[in-house]
Amino acid sequence: MKFNSTLDSIKSYQAGKPIELVVREYGIDKKDIVKLASNENPFGCSPKVKSAVSAIIDNMALYPDDSMLKLKSALAQKYAIEDSEVIIGAGSDQVIEFAIHAKAHEGASVLMNSVTFAMYEIYAKQVGAKIIRTASVMHNMEEFYALYCEHKPSIIFLCTPNNPTGDAIDASSMIEFIRKIDSDTLVIVDGAYMEYARLKDASKGVEPRDLIAQFDNVLFLGTFSKAYGLGGMRVGYGIAQAPIIKALYKVRPPFNITTLSLEAASVALEDEPFVQGCIEDNFEQMKRYEAFASAKKIEIVDSYTNFVTLSLPSVKNSSYIAQELLKKGMIIRDLSSYGLNAIRVTIGTSKQNDRFFELAESML
Ligand SMILES: *Cc1c(COP(=O)(O)O)cnc(C)c1O
Repeated sequence: MKFNSTLDSIKSYQAGKPIELVVREYGIDKKDIVKLASNENPFGCSPKVKSAVSAIIDNMALYPDDSMLKLKSALAQKYAIEDSEVIIGAGSDQVIEFAIHAKAHEGASVLMNSVTFAMYEIYAKQVGAKIIRTASVMHNMEEFYALYCEHKPSIIFLCTPNNPTGDAIDASSMIEFIRKIDSDTLVIVDGAYMEYARLKDASKGVEPRDLIAQFDNVLFLGTFSKAYGLGGMRVGYGIAQAPIIKALYKVRPPFNITTLSLEAASVALEDEPFVQGCIEDNFEQMKRYEAFASAKKIEIVDSYTNFVTLSLPSVKNSSYIAQELLKKGMIIRDLSSYGLNAIRVTIGTSKQNDRFFELAESML
């Protein structure tokens, strides 16, 4: 059967290997497997979320509240914006999909960093858009501007902090860049790890309300999958001026978030101390990775996230290392598909990190 030719150049997204697969393929006991591959919060979510979700477990027969007012209002309050400036997606992934389907089209250009979140390209190709990438591995605003002038893209993606490298853009240089962009170009600021960046370095932190107060062409993305520990619930959001949100609503399917997920995300916002505690622990543990890399003379990217990227020397092949670690039950991310001889490791609990160092000691 023939399918749309726009699909020909799409490689489907390679998700981090689930624990169940490693149990099946390598016969390793589930309790001996450590997954540091998908930037999940190793402490999970706030205990308040668990009790709130258990309390409504009998509500599964009815469709969810499609206005999502409880969650939208909680986000609006957190960020000091209006309900009309928020849209909720099944992960911020789905908001990326809405934005591309609403704004890009066949022949349009979409500009992004050379190495960045893989879903931007996949959704852009679905609509037949052309992908323009920078050459630099780290976001370089001058290069972005030159490519913007050359290609006049309909969408620009800025992923800050960036996945899978961990670097973050200086907020002031980003704002300066956006000022030079025509208001008909949609600038998407993906802040999936913004909670981490804000705590580590205020100069990298951007507040969605500042962005949308200044710009009518910016869409900020946030997610509950990383710092909030709710990857399995699939909740993310977009924040922009109301006309952008209205356009995104036209491509949104009804009931795109489950009742349990809506409750989980709303309650997660009520326990910020839990999240802040996890982020503080993250940066404490990150120091151990920095010390490990320094002792091994391995290059490590200064990270504003909950993961570290280790650039391996050419004698150590990242796919091989990832495979060897997997055989021992340690799931991490090989970045060779991004053209890098590097691995990305999510910062785990102290015990999970112990295990990583124990295994990596002899391999790296
Ligand atoms: C994890 C991630 C997302 C989205 O995750 P969802 O689970 O779909 O909310 C978006 N952008 C980046 C850069 C990410 O790392």
